[in-house]
Amino acid sequence: MELEGKVAVVTGASRGLGRAIALKLGAMGAKVAVNYVNIDPQNEIDAREVVTALEALGAEGFIVEANVTDGEAVKRMMDEVVEKWGGLHILINNAGITKDGLLIRMSEKAWDDVLDINLKGTFLCSKHALKPMMKQGYGRIVSLASIAGVIGNPGQTNYSASKGGIIAFTKSLAKEMGSKGITANAVAPGYIHSQMTDVLPEEVRARFLEVIALRRAGEPEEVAEVVAFLASDRASYVSGQVIGIDGGM
Ligand code: NAP
Repeated sequence: MELEGKVAVVTGASRGLGRAIALKLGAMGAKVAVNYVNIDPQNEIDAREVVTALEALGAEGFIVEANVTDGEAVKRMMDEVVEKWGGLHILINNAGITKDGLLIRMSEKAWDDVLDINLKGTFLCSKHALKPMMKQGYGRIVSLASIAGVIGNPGQTNYSASKGGIIAFTKSLAKEMGSKGITANAVAPGYIHSQMTDVLPEEVRARFLEVIALRRAGEPEEVAEVVAFLASDRASYVSGQVIGIDGGM
C-alpha cells in the first residue's frame, strides 16, 4: 500500500492501458479519479465499471468526465478532484488516439485530432494539475509516449510527432518543476494488447512480433507496473526520463 494517502488522476481510464494503470494505482493504495470522455454513452458505463473494480480491491475511486482537449473541462476536473480528496499527487497522461495513414494522403483533421488529444491534452492536464502539486511541493506526472515517438513508424507521422512531442515536453517539464518536488517522466510502450492495437491489420501485427525480442505483445498490466513505479516514491530520483516497455523491440 505504498501509495496510501496519494490522490491520482488517470486520463482515458475507462479501458485499455488507462484502466490497468488505474487499478494498479488503486491496488497500491491510491485514491483514483477515473477520467473518461462523454463521446459515447458506453464510456461512462466502462468508467463506472473501473470504479467498481477499484472498490473490489478495497480502493476508492470516482468517475470524472472531461475531454482532455478542453482546457475549461480539464481545469474543472482537477478542481473537482482536489475539492473531493484535498489534493492531487499523481497525474497519468494516458488518453490518446491514432488516426493512421501515409502522410501523402493524411487529412489536416487526422493530423489535428491526434496532436490535439495526445499532445495538447497532455499539456492541458499537466498545466492544471501543477497548481495543487506546487502547493503540496510534491507531484508525479507520468505520460504515455510510444516507441513510435522514439524511432518512428510508417503510417503514423501524426501519432509519432505527438508522442515525440510528449517526450520533449516531459524533459522540459522535469527541468521546470524539479525544484518544486515534482517529477515528470514518460513511458514508451511498444506493441501492447488493447482496442487500439486490436484493429491493426494482421500483417502489421505479425511484423511487430518479428522485431520484438520476447516474440509477443505486451499486456496492459505490464505497462501499469512501470507507470506505478514512476508514480511512487521508489522513483524519487528519476525525472525527465523515457522508459521503454516494448519487450526488446
Ligand atoms: P485505447 O484502448 O484506445 O484507450 C484510449 C483511451 O483514451 C480511451 O479510454 C479513450 O476514450 C480515451 N480518450 C480518447 N480521447 C480522449 C479525450 N479527448 N479525452 C479523454 N479521454 C480520451 O488505447 P490504449 O492502447 O489503452 O492506449 C493508452 C495510451 O497508451 C495512449 O496514449 C496510447 O497512445 C499509448 N500507447 C499504447 C500502445 C499500445 O500498443 N496499445 C503503445 C504505445 C503507446 P474513448 O473510449 O472515448 O475512445
